[in-house]
Formats: sequence, structure tokens, C-alpha cells
Amino acid sequence: MPNIPWPNGTKIAVNLTFDFDAETLWLGRDPTNVDRPGTLSQGTYGAKIGVPKILELLADEGLPATFFVPGWVVDNRTPIVEKIAKADHEIGHHGYHHKSIDPNNPEMELEELEKGLHSIKRVIGVAPVGYRAPSGEMSPNLIRLLVDRGFIYDSTMLDDIEPYRHILEDGTPGVLELPWHWSMDDAQYLLTSIKFHRPLATNDHVLSIWKAEFDEAYLSGGYFNLIMHPQLTGRPSRIRLLRELIAYIRKHDNVWFARSRDVASTWLEIANTPSEGPIISPFLRQNENGTISQR
Ligand SMILES: [Zn+2]
Repeated sequence: MPNIPWPNGTKIAVNLTFDFDAETLWLGRDPTNVDRPGTLSQGTYGAKIGVPKILELLADEGLPATFFVPGWVVDNRTPIVEKIAKADHEIGHHGYHHKSIDPNNPEMELEELEKGLHSIKRVIGVAPVGYRAPSGEMSPNLIRLLVDRGFIYDSTMLDDIEPYRHILEDGTPGVLELPWHWSMDDAQYLLTSIKFHRPLATNDHVLSIWKAEFDEAYLSGGYFNLIMHPQLTGRPSRIRLLRELIAYIRKHDNVWFARSRDVASTWLEIANTPSEGPIISPFLRQNENGTISQR
């Protein structure tokens, strides 16, 4: 594993994703930060400088990307969100206020989902098909809500290295999962503040981990899901980090840079196409004894 049959003979799918939290990263955890303009300005940087720098780099490189955006950011930073969409990058759902999922509060899950959907549809004109939960938590209730509202994928779980399909409690197929890991998240290396102080990593340190992850995924023909935040990777020195990573990946043949929704829809197409080989469909896996089981 994985040896995923990506289209046109490509060996690996690369998703460059940006969680464009802006001020919600600081408001979602502590609403009293609304009275702390200095704290909030860390998020404002993402909207003011980070995203424009990232869009410039993506345009220079001719690469597509996915931006997961909370509804609050869509409503309050509308011009830059419109600019992202106009450049043909994907806008995914990332909650409304960037509140962590609380399995004991399904009402909040529903409200955050509906409000975020409403904001994206109002500004972008189309409903998002992808979702990433704020802060890496999920619930079975939310997976079911995503299916009901026409989403085709989620990108919140950390339990695999290749896409897989959720199965709902009644046994029916759920959304596709595009898994990730903290080691592939810039926040682990680049996020520091007075309250959450941690030493910053050098570009070489981050690059060594991301290159190693890419190398192994490429060797086995897999999936590379990178999570960045404009308020972090949008810093001048970190734009250089991303540029260097892209250059490294580009030294390899048969790499498919894609938006998350393109990876998800392609995977679903592959699942409906009879194929030979060990993977019968992305949802079914051949066991060592030759039997087929559902993932
Ligand atoms: Zn976020």
C-alpha cells in the first residue's frame, strides 16, 4: 500500500491546503479577545498580507490550492475571499466561528455548519463540497450532517495516509476522508504567541520533515496533504519555505498538484470504475488471505 491509481499515470496527489482562520483563530478559543486588538492582529496579518503573498506564489507557480475558510472570515474579509475564489482555488468549509467540535453540543455543530454554508454560498455563489473541522476534532453527527448537505469529502481525521470512505452508523457510505497529520501542519512549527509560547522552527527543520513525508508517499504512490495557515506561512521567510518545498516536489516526475475537491471527486470516480489489481475499489481492500473487506 498505497499505490493509488491516480489519473494520467501520476504517482502522487499533492494537496496544498490553507486554513484561512484570520481573527477566528483567536476569537474561537476566547471570545473576549474581541477587545484585544493586538492579539487579533496576528490573524489580521493572514488576511492583509499572508493570503496576498500566497496567492502571488501560487500564481507564479501556476498551482491550484484549497482554502478552508470559516464563515466569519467570509463575512468579514470578503474581498480577499472573493480574490481566492476568482483565482480558481477551492473554498472549503471551516466552521463559522472556528469553534472546536463538542460531541455534547450537536446544536452548535448544526448552527456552525449552516451559518458557514450560508456565508460561502452568499459570497462565492456555490456551495462548498469539502469540510475541515476547526482544531482537528470530529463527530459522527457531523459526518452525517455533511452527507445530508451534499458535501463529498471531509479532511479532519488523522487515522490513515490515503483517502478512505466513512461508513455511516446505518451502514451506508458517508463522505470521503482526506486524512492529514500534525506533522504536516505549519502551526506545529511556526505558531507562537505570548500565551502559547513555543520556540520557532527553522525552515530547514520544517523542510526536512515535509520532504521525508513526501519522499515516502511518492515511493509508494500515495497522497500528500499539507496544511498551512496564511498568518504563519504568509510570513516573508515562510513563503520562501513553501517555494522551496514546491521546487523540491517539482524535481519529481508524475506529481499531480490538485485541489482537494479534485482529488475527492477523482477518487470517487475510480471507485466506480472496475479495475484490476490489489485495490478493488478505494472503499474495498484485499486482505492477505484473498478476501475482500470494506474499509
Ligand atoms: Zn483553522
